Amino acid sequence: MSNSAGLLGPLIRFPISMDDFLRIDDCQMCHRPVPWEWIPAVALAGKPLAGTGIWTSQLVAGHCATCAEALEAQHQEQRWARELEERLVTLLGGVRPYREFTFQRYQVTHENRAALARARDFDPFAHSLYLWGPCGVGKTHLAYAAARRCFERTLSVVILPAYQLSRRVRMKDPDQEQASIDHFIGADVLLLDDLGAGTETTFGRQVLQEILDARNYRDQAGLIVTSAYSLDALAQKMGHDAIASRLAGMCQIVEIRGTDYRLKLGALADDQSHD
Ligand SMILES: [Zn+2]
Repeated sequence: MSNSAGLLGPLIRFPISMDDFLRIDDCQMCHRPVPWEWIPAVALAGKPLAGTGIWTSQLVAGHCATCAEALEAQHQEQRWARELEERLVTLLGGVRPYREFTFQRYQVTHENRAALARARDFDPFAHSLYLWGPCGVGKTHLAYAAARRCFERTLSVVILPAYQLSRRVRMKDPDQEQASIDHFIGADVLLLDDLGAGTETTFGRQVLQEILDARNYRDQAGLIVTSAYSLDALAQKMGHDAIASRLAGMCQIVEIRGTDYRLKLGALADDQSHD
């Protein structure tokens, strides 16, 4: 027969091993039998291209196409989870706050139960929170846990100790200063930790006032402030009441009572110097 050599014409013949033709692999995952497949011959300048005109296994690294795809999706999910974890560690300021500051790990007492509920219910598009109480009752823990959950829901979150506000903003170029302030104003969630703890400077107060006024003007919720001071005491400490009264207008005021649970439990006391 004149066409016995197939499509490529009479000049080229490919050796076909009957062993390969009959070979069947098992997928390592689902153990489905997958027969070897024929890769049709491709000729270039009268010669067969390497890897064509052969029987070959259909498995990818031992897996059938379905399982290989499922594995890749699983790996992608793991990569995203790792990336989220890394970004959270950076946002929260270290591995330890990442591990500790969750709602699950919060030590619930009858004195802080209400505050926990408020923090859990925190809706960054409807609420702002002012969490205050003595040192060690877990204000920072609750605030971080609430902010973290917002971050996990892909909102933009900024966390910083309140005393660092002026340092973060103060730059040589006024445009850079404004960009930095705008960043705090525009964040879906802005967490200012331990307001009133540092030395007040006029510049720091002005920056804070500008941020609060702008967020308030835009009717923007999502502010979380922690402090060892009630708003009255904060006004006294700052020497004027503009910031305290602005916070009073914007925030749900949540007092957390209790004794320092770090002293009771010996947890977090060594390297979490703030609340
Ligand atoms: Zn499979």
